[in-house]
This record gives sequence, structure tokens and C-alpha cells, in this order.
Amino acid sequence: MAEKAQIGTMWLGGCSGCHLSIVDFHEQILDLLELAEIKFSPVLMDIKYDEIPEKLDVVIIEGGIVNDENREFAELLRERADFVISYGTCAAYGGIPGLRNLWPKEEVIEEAYINSISTPNPDKVIPSEDVPHLEDRVRPLSDVIDVDLVVPGCPPKSDVVAEAVIALLKGEEVELPNTNLCEV
Ligand code: SF4
Repeated sequence: MAEKAQIGTMWLGGCSGCHLSIVDFHEQILDLLELAEIKFSPVLMDIKYDEIPEKLDVVIIEGGIVNDENREFAELLRERADFVISYGTCAAYGGIPGLRNLWPKEEVIEEAYINSISTPNPDKVIPSEDVPHLEDRVRPLSDVIDVDLVVPGCPPKSDVVAEAVIALLKGEEVELPNTNLCEV
């Protein structure tokens, strides 16, 4: 039997909704598991930065680059994976988190930590240590690393994603349908 491809999935600046499309692969997950071993995925297990395998065939990345931790993870995954899929509208274009680009970063931080009525913070503390730091702007993944395939959609349709990944693993050409790729 041919060696299985080593794949992983990761979420960065997104809402995790794109990963629900992966969970919804239903029986297509069996076809995928015939071809690949899932080494990590936030919907299966927690994984730390230093636990990412040295060599991956395919990595599927949800979400754009919102903070320095996202950037570091994206760069590491690019370094380790032969093929990177920018997965979902946030990864492709910035998506919902990208709306924060309408305001200066400092204003966004003050709104989140101090001015929001749902944030009790009488001492007006803004944490700066041991937390990821916001980048000046939210960026699509392709602004920060090279990507090999972009699959937009919010979230992308499960069957479209599954078919694309399975085709890729079989060494076939990946063709995305020229229609609405969103699940809902
Ligand atoms: Fe969530 Fe939509 Fe962004 Fe995916 S594309 S992470 S579902 S907001």
C-alpha cells in the first residue's frame, strides 16, 4: 500500500466555522483517510507550536493574519508543508475579522478592553505580556505566505472541500465549481 499523505489543519484569524465544514465531511472522510493521515487539527486535538511535524504534504489553513501568533504559525506551516490551502473567506480575503481594518488598531484595542459595555475593566488594564499582539491590519493569508490553492466560502461547502482535497491527494487536477461556494 502506498504511504499515506501527512496532512494537518489549523485555524488562525477565523471563527472556527470553516472547520465545521471539515467535521461535516461525513462519509467522504473515509475516502480521505484512505489517502491521508491527519497529523493535527484543532477539531481533533490541541497542538502546540513545537509539536507541528517537520514535514507535511498538505496543510489546510482557516483564517487570516490578525496577530503576531497567526503570522508565526502561518510561516511555520508554510515552511513544513508542500502544499498550502488557504481555506475560507477569512483566509482568502480577511473576511469578518478584516472589518476591523476600518478603524485604527489602537481604537480597536480600547473598544475591546475598555469601552465595550460587556467588558468590566475598571482599572482600564490592556494586557501586553503573554498575549498575541494585534497586527496593524488584518491580512489574507496570501499576503504573508505563498499559498497553493484558495478555497473561499463562509464556510466553504463541505463536499466541495472534501472533493478538492481528495483530488489533490490522488494527484488529480483540483477544479472548484464556478458557483457559490458558501455552505449557507
Ligand atoms: Fe468563520 Fe466564515 Fe471566516 Fe470561515 S470564512 S472562519 S466560517 S467567518
